[in-house]
Amino acid sequence: SRPVRISVHLHPYGNGRTLLLSRDVTALEQADAMRRDFVANVSHEIRTPLTVLTGFVETLQTLPLDADERSRYLAMMAQQAARMQSVVQDLLTLSRLEGSPLPGMSEWTPVLALMHRCEEEGRALSALLTQNQQRHHVLQFPSVQELRAEGDIAGVPSELQSVLSNLISNAVRYTPASGTITVQWRRAADGSATFSVSDTGPGIAPEHLPRLTERFYRVDRSRSRETGGTGLGLAIVKHVVQRHGAVLDISSVPGKGSVFSVTFPANRLRCPALPDGSPPA
Ligand code: ADP
Repeated sequence: SRPVRISVHLHPYGNGRTLLLSRDVTALEQADAMRRDFVANVSHEIRTPLTVLTGFVETLQTLPLDADERSRYLAMMAQQAARMQSVVQDLLTLSRLEGSPLPGMSEWTPVLALMHRCEEEGRALSALLTQNQQRHHVLQFPSVQELRAEGDIAGVPSELQSVLSNLISNAVRYTPASGTITVQWRRAADGSATFSVSDTGPGIAPEHLPRLTERFYRVDRSRSRETGGTGLGLAIVKHVVQRHGAVLDISSVPGKGSVFSVTFPANRLRCPALPDGSPPA
């Protein structure tokens, strides 16, 4: 049982009588507290790289550095600036999502193209993160043949792309170099279809699962930052998934790995007819 906050106003209205007005302000206060938390989080996420950046500027201004040192400092400064840029970019994405109308059934995203683009991105990110290591991620994607007859998903291509690429990027970023990341697309008997991103990474303890899609919620802060995370990826995923009438499911076994899956109902999918006119099997 949560505490309930009641606001009470007394209005005298003549003859010594008083009107008592009471209002349940629990939800209002909670919304207000959430807004304050959010502003504090944003400020912190921007201020940290800004402090580092300022420190580097001062160093460059005061210390006599040789060309090599200078370029090393400039590279680190660029990294901090990039970090601020990603936070702002993700915040803008979230606020745009909140303000825009629900995606209708007039725009379609081909499953094949979606997977293809995300595969390229995932491989590039894995190559970047494991470049100085002997072992590399194993990335498994459905083949073009498997996806050829898979048709389209109703919805905004750039938004659906951001869902899949956020999930793949998380799998790659949290899974050690020797791990395996598997992306699948499966149709169920009821006509719905699910894409899933599984990894053999560290997994997530059950108590964190319900909070993962909250803005700036992170299980492992340092790993998130180190690999360029903003803490907003899953909040964006959840938003887009809901807007598209889909369902996000997260399951994880600590020490073994995680599976993030997104299921689209049959009415948001369309299959191409085969050349002979019959629907695909
Ligand atoms: P971040 O930018 O920190 O990755 P996200 O919103 O994408 O932010 O994810 C929130 C948190 O969920 C991460 O900080 C991480 O602790 C956890 N997480 C997300 N995906 C995975 C995964 N595949 N394996 C383990 N932990 C994950």
